[in-house]
Amino acid sequence: MSDQLAMFGGRREVARAENTRERTGWPVVTEAEREAVLGVFDAGLYTSNDGGRGAVSGLQRDWAAYTGVRFCAAVANGTAALELSLAALGLEPGAEVLVPALTFIGSAIPVVRRLLVPVFVDVDPVTYTIDPAAAEAAITPRTRAIIAVHLHGLPADLTALRALADKHGLHLVEDAAQAQGARYRGRAVASFGDINAVSLNVVKNLPTCGEGGLVTTDDEELHERVVLHRQFGEDLRAGRDRDYISRVLAGNEKLSAVQAAFTRAQLSRLDANQAARDRGVRAFLARLAELPGVITPHCPPDRTHAWHILRLRFDPAAAGLPDVRPGAFRAVLARALKAEGVPVQPYQVVPLPGQPAFQRLAGFGGYPWRLPGVAPVSYRIEDHPVSLAVIEDSLTVQRVHLNPAAAPLLLRFADAFAKVWANLDVLAPVARAVDYRPPWQAATTTAVSA
Ligand SMILES: *Cc1c(COP(=O)(O)O)cnc(C)c1O
Repeated sequence: MSDQLAMFGGRREVARAENTRERTGWPVVTEAEREAVLGVFDAGLYTSNDGGRGAVSGLQRDWAAYTGVRFCAAVANGTAALELSLAALGLEPGAEVLVPALTFIGSAIPVVRRLLVPVFVDVDPVTYTIDPAAAEAAITPRTRAIIAVHLHGLPADLTALRALADKHGLHLVEDAAQAQGARYRGRAVASFGDINAVSLNVVKNLPTCGEGGLVTTDDEELHERVVLHRQFGEDLRAGRDRDYISRVLAGNEKLSAVQAAFTRAQLSRLDANQAARDRGVRAFLARLAELPGVITPHCPPDRTHAWHILRLRFDPAAAGLPDVRPGAFRAVLARALKAEGVPVQPYQVVPLPGQPAFQRLAGFGGYPWRLPGVAPVSYRIEDHPVSLAVIEDSLTVQRVHLNPAAAPLLLRFADAFAKVWANLDVLAPVARAVDYRPPWQAATTTAVSA
């Protein structure tokens, strides 16, 4: 007789007291971060225009060296990093950019803000990153770029995507917001695209104490255009006096020095943190893989996984419940696991083309979609069956596993999973009776009423 589930009044498997800040707090703030941030006040250099002597320039050098690229520009956040990358490429308004259908909205909004048309592409069912064959099928004479998102921290298929870009004369842009420190065939991500973006948001694997982003490229001209676009179009290259002349229309997207200093301290521990996280996460996933019907993330042998988000899929038939629908199974598992103290949650409830903003083609007064020459677009989530299936039958673990000391707690989460699996016979009738609505229904109804 197995213990009664907490969902039905039994004892909670993972007590609140086990989930401590020491184990799961993120980011981890040490003396190094405190000293680095206080050092900014001592230096008195607060912005990007620090003559190469301040924390922003230091971070740009450190990240360029870490990724093995020639140039790095620090910017306000990851969304700005992607938008400035697209601005630097100088794509004509109305050009099409391929974006995976399953990713964070921050991968696609910069496209629209540059008056470019996002064309969504389904993901691969094993890696959850953009499917290169589907990407090729989506190419038209107006396609100019592919955004390769390393979703959840796993590098996309960069060999296939680079070959595709070269074959069709497209730019490759990496959105490495979730994959700082991950490697593809031994080389750090954010070094494969023509230009590449990362986020330093406090929740990411390489965090700052707030908001930040970085753009990397080997192309000096692209780099200089990013720098031009991050401050009012002014030419602020080292050694020049400010002339207040705007060479391009641009806003202010600079990083501040406190943010840069904090991230520099984090960067010095990125690899060590990643190694500890890799051990803890792999031990956790190995335990989960023993449970029938749990599909754990796959990391192909030619790359490393930054494990930014752990996505777990659930197959009711393999779990011995062939008459339970996958979405209902996932919904009931979410309730049972949360009651046991496992912080599972959805990540993305609708493929991006189903977001109300895309359903309504609102844009900027209807642009970019109303630009001359742009083919009529209708964004349909049904065009992305893999993304829909993944959203329907999976849950994620986020943030609690980023702390390198989280490993023992992850094993306790595995105990809770085992307890739930020992009680599947009790959960099955609940799952059969549940009034199930797919997660994207809320998003698609908002589209109608907004
Ligand atoms: C976080 C994130 C972004 C945006 O970064 P911000 O710093 O939050 O603006 C873009 N793309 C992906 C995949 C992300 O996870």
